[in-house]
Amino acid sequence: MSLKPPPLRNDCFALPPGVDWTPVDVALAHLRETLRVVVGREEVPLLQAGGRVLAQDLHALRANPPAANTAVDGYGFAAAAVGAGDQVLPLVPGRAAAGVPFDGAVPAGQAVRVLTGAALPPGVDTVVLDEDCRTGDGQVAFRGPVKPGSNTRKAGEDMAQAALVLPAGRVLTAGDLALAASVGHGRVPVQVPLRVGVLSTGDEVVAPGSAAGPAEIFDANRPMLLTMAARFGHVPVDLGHVPDDPEALRARFDESATQVDVILTSGGASAGDEDHVSALLKRTGSLAHWRIALKPGRPLALGLWQGVPVFGLPGNPVAAFVCTLIFARPAMAVLSGQGWVMPEGIEVPAGFEKRKKPGRREYLRARLRDGRAEVFRSEGSGRISGLSWAEGLVELPDGAADIRPGSAVRYLPFSAFGL
Ligand code: AMP
Ligand code: MG
Repeated sequence: MSLKPPPLRNDCFALPPGVDWTPVDVALAHLRETLRVVVGREEVPLLQAGGRVLAQDLHALRANPPAANTAVDGYGFAAAAVGAGDQVLPLVPGRAAAGVPFDGAVPAGQAVRVLTGAALPPGVDTVVLDEDCRTGDGQVAFRGPVKPGSNTRKAGEDMAQAALVLPAGRVLTAGDLALAASVGHGRVPVQVPLRVGVLSTGDEVVAPGSAAGPAEIFDANRPMLLTMAARFGHVPVDLGHVPDDPEALRARFDESATQVDVILTSGGASAGDEDHVSALLKRTGSLAHWRIALKPGRPLALGLWQGVPVFGLPGNPVAAFVCTLIFARPAMAVLSGQGWVMPEGIEVPAGFEKRKKPGRREYLRARLRDGRAEVFRSEGSGRISGLSWAEGLVELPDGAADIRPGSAVRYLPFSAFGL
C-alpha cells in the first residue's frame, strides 16, 4: 500500500503581498518553499525502475567490487617476490576464473593463470597481461619490474560497503540501475508516479482533425502539455476539453480531483468575464493570480481544487509552453519527489540582435547553429511554428539588455528541461 502525505495548504500559492509584477526568481523561490511531495511510495523490481523517482537514499549493500580481482587475462603473483629484468616463474597448476576461484594459495615466487574478473587468489596482488608473457614447460616468463597491483581492481574501489550510492529524488537512469545492481539492490523504493491531468478550456477550442468553422481553433495545448508531462517523467492524464461554462468546468474539476495529483489547465486564466478557471479557483479561497514579470506569459491562475494543485496556464500555446517549462516543471518535480530542479544553461554567443527594456525576463524560442544562438523570426506568442522550430530557449535577464551578434547570452536547450 502506498502512503500519501497530507494535502497542501490552501495558501500555498499566495505570493508576498505588495508585489505588483513578481520577478520570476521570487515566484520560483516561493514555489520551492511551499510545495512538497504529494505522491506515495512503493517498492519495485530494479528491472522496472528506469525513469522512476528514488524515494530514499540508496546505500551499498556490499562493496563493488566485492573482492580484489583481475582486470585482464594474464598471470598473477606476489609483486614483492619479483624484481627488475627478465623473470621466469613456475606456474602452479589450475587457474582462477570469474566466478570460479582458484582453490588454494599461490606461494611467493610462483604464478597462477588468471582470467578477467577472477578473484585474486591468496598470495596474488599483481597481474601481468597475456600479451606481455611467454609460457612453456610449466613456467611463465615476462620482463620486470612490474608495478605492484598492476592490472588488478581493489575491493570496494568503485563503491565501499554502506556508501551512499544514489540520493533520494534521483530520476533513475540506465547508469543508476547498473550501479544499484552492482551493490546488491534487486528492488528499490520509488515514488508513485505523479499523475498530471491536462485540461483545455474555451468555447472556440475543438479537437484537432474535427470539422471546424473559421471561428474555431484546434486544441494545440493538450497534445503539447500531455507530452511535456510525460517527458518530465510523470503520468499524463487526458482530462479533455470543456467550454467556457462554469458548471461544466466545476464538474470536470470535481471528477479530475479524484483521478490526478495535479491539474494543468490552459485558457481562461485571466480575470476577464470568460476566464472561468480563475473564477472557479477564486471560490475555493485558494486562488493566487500571478502577475509574473515574464515574457511570454500572462497572469497565471494557481490554486487548489479539493486539495489538488491547479496550474491555470495561459491559453496561448507559446505562453503555456514557456510557463510550463519555467514554473510548472519545477513545481511538479517537487510534487513528484524529485526535489527542486533547474535547467542547466550554457553561455553562447548570440546570432541575433535585440534591445530589451528592463522589467521583464524574456524567453525567446531559439536553437544553436554553428555554436551561436539564433532566435525565431517572430516573437509573436501565437506563432506555434516557433515552438516546433526551436530546440531551446534564450533567457534574457530581468534588466535591460542590448544584445549584438556575438554578445554572450544564456541558452537553455530543451534537453535541459527533460524535453
Ligand atoms: P485565453 O487565455 O483563454 O484568453 O486564450 C488566449 C488565446 O489562446 C486565445 O487566442 C485562445 O483561442 C488560444 N487558446 C486557448 N486554448 C487553446 C488551445 N487549447 N489550443 C490553442 N490555442 C488556444
Ligand atoms: Mg479562453
